[in-house]
Amino acid sequence: MTVRVPAKVNLQLAVGPPRDDGYHPLVTVFHAVSLNDEVTVRPAAKMVLAVTGEDAALVPTDRSNLAWRAASALAKAAGVRGTEAAVRIEIRKRIPVAAGLAGGSADAAATLVACNELWQAGLSQRELAEVAASLGSDVPFSLMGGTVVGRGRGEQLTPALAAGSYHWALAFGLSGLSTAEVYATFDRLRAARSATGASAPTEPSLSTELMTALRSGDPARVGPLLTNDLQPAALSLQPDLRRTLAEGREHGALGAIVSGSGPTCAFLARDAAHARELAVLLTGAGVCRAAARASGPVPGATVLRDMRS
Ligand code: ATP
Repeated sequence: MTVRVPAKVNLQLAVGPPRDDGYHPLVTVFHAVSLNDEVTVRPAAKMVLAVTGEDAALVPTDRSNLAWRAASALAKAAGVRGTEAAVRIEIRKRIPVAAGLAGGSADAAATLVACNELWQAGLSQRELAEVAASLGSDVPFSLMGGTVVGRGRGEQLTPALAAGSYHWALAFGLSGLSTAEVYATFDRLRAARSATGASAPTEPSLSTELMTALRSGDPARVGPLLTNDLQPAALSLQPDLRRTLAEGREHGALGAIVSGSGPTCAFLARDAAHARELAVLLTGAGVCRAAARASGPVPGATVLRDMRS
């Protein structure tokens, strides 16, 4: 059973002050893009996980892998026990690791869909979404795909009324960024700002301007409205990302932002040809490890092949 699953970028990422449990309340607009991992699950004598492709060496192959945890969580929820619950999970990665593109969450979502099919467990989308939320904040979105507003930790989802399709160039960083470190830096920067009386932290809210622009389907309106509260923290940890963003803007990107916790930079292009041109120029300028073009929105985790048939 093979499932294809997309990466995400955040068109808006508004982050509030941390709650007592340490989590930051979010309002975000997730957007799934056509940069995919593929996850294959097969029956096996015991649990095994193998990873090939982009950044494979950086991905754990034990039970700390989010895909492994997804298979275990689904077996529990579906009452699948013993050797029947053992699977071989093969992850073909194209989504770079620790890149702000939710690669691990994507693999977890794909594993949930694949195991649900393989075991004919019959969990509904809603039940799968519940298991997904127990694994991580971005996992429910990776199941769903499209363009979706996320609240809470990002797991409370409502589809956004977005028209048209959007073409992107994605510039991958020279090294990864830890999401936890980016949030810690975000807290430090915000504390320093409020200490000077510059601004008090506020509850995050959805950008109505962005939602209106998304309904118009016009990338030229959407581009200037892309925002990411984590961007200053990502830039303070990797100052070279400023050059990456500037390079894309100089070549006509309609919007240029750090994706999620970074370090991937996402550039909104005028059309598919412009996205290709931007990807080539960014790679040539030496401001990133590599660049790829992608379009969105695309569906979430989708069955590609059923090897049993
Ligand atoms: P997010 O955008 O959701 O914050 P990210 O895209 O920045 O996440 P991931 O690629 O999901 O980051 O990886 C974060 C860490 O999770 C990695 O450093 C890795 O050790 C661990 N990890 C566990 N399972 C996976 C997986 N299937 N794929 C990638 N990383 C995984």
